[in-house]
Amino acid sequence: MTKVYYDQDVTVKALEGKKIAVIGYGSQGHAHSQNLRDNGNDVIIGIRAGKSADKAKEDGFEVFSVAEATKQADVVMILIPDEQQADVYAAEIAPNLEAGNAIAFGHGFNIHFGTITPAADIDVFMVAPKGPGHMVRRQFAKGSAVPALFAVFQDATGNARDIAIAWAQGVGATRVGVLETTFKEETETDLFGEQAVLCGGTTHLVQAGFETLVEAGYQPEIAYFEVLHELKLIVDLMYEGGMEKMRYSISNTAEFGDYVSGPRVITPDVKDRMKDVLTDIQTGAFAKRFTDDYKAGFPDFHAMRAKQQGHQIEAVGAELRKMMPFVNEQQ
Ligand code: NDP
Ligand code: MG
Ligand code: MG
Repeated sequence: MTKVYYDQDVTVKALEGKKIAVIGYGSQGHAHSQNLRDNGNDVIIGIRAGKSADKAKEDGFEVFSVAEATKQADVVMILIPDEQQADVYAAEIAPNLEAGNAIAFGHGFNIHFGTITPAADIDVFMVAPKGPGHMVRRQFAKGSAVPALFAVFQDATGNARDIAIAWAQGVGATRVGVLETTFKEETETDLFGEQAVLCGGTTHLVQAGFETLVEAGYQPEIAYFEVLHELKLIVDLMYEGGMEKMRYSISNTAEFGDYVSGPRVITPDVKDRMKDVLTDIQTGAFAKRFTDDYKAGFPDFHAMRAKQQGHQIEAVGAELRKMMPFVNEQQ
């Protein structure tokens, strides 16, 4: 089992006396900055004018342009969307860094794929909580935390690792455990997970199931309940206790059908195609496609999004969810 770091392993107060700038105040940005501030750190926000900037001011932060916040800070955590980071880094962050400063990320994408190349005299680390920002903040406020990964890409000062671990403590994660990774491992596994299983795999599995039932003449509303709505119950059980707890809770009929039909749907060639997806991630082909599309104004992205939004399952779901106001209540 890999080493897990807890509060008692944080022996160096590496953020003490340091000025911290969090760049971006969205999902991850608001959570990192509020948790670090509550843990006694000196945090300012670097952001463009707009909704997030107003929110950060409302939440009591000093708010500056990205360039000005970078200039003032010793440690700069970059939490704007991945596709925008390279441009913002070149224009506003890099020119305002000094030797011995540290930059940090919540995901390794730009460093790993080389769209950001930091100067050699800068520390570069990552702290990536394994959950969405609202959960990172909510668990912290309850006295708990979401686990996190940390990694050091470049240790210019000799203190980069201590700063990364101190950041993981500042965001609360050492309360429950922090694991060390590399930029390469975090980036490639994160992209693979979201593409092959969590986002791409799941949505397309659900859609294929929905289409199979509807094309066979069953009512779309019934199909929606069976293949999408009930997915949450199954995922919650897996989340709580793995496949075993889920299979323990479902009926024997469902469990028997799981063993008989699961392998008929997810055949060995599906795994071969997962390997192809992983290869495209490892070679940088996916990153290039995403970055090129961003530079062209995201034409493919917008077309694919529009096509998916037009799927029948979305219209059927929108109607059915009106019967179920509880689905949007915070659990
Ligand atoms: P969000 O989209 O939630 O927030 C982005 C923030 O950046 C907003 O405050 C936005 O402000 C600001 N912003 C956007 N463009 C610029 C710009 N050009 N200059 C200044 N500020 C800008 O991002 P996330 O929190 O989802 O993602 C941030 C990072 O965290 C990414 O690297 C992502 O991979 C990583 N991550 C995200 C997770 C998640 O659960 N969302 C989980 C783990 C890692 P405005 O309101 O003005 O648009
Ligand atoms: Mg991701
Ligand atoms: Mg059923």
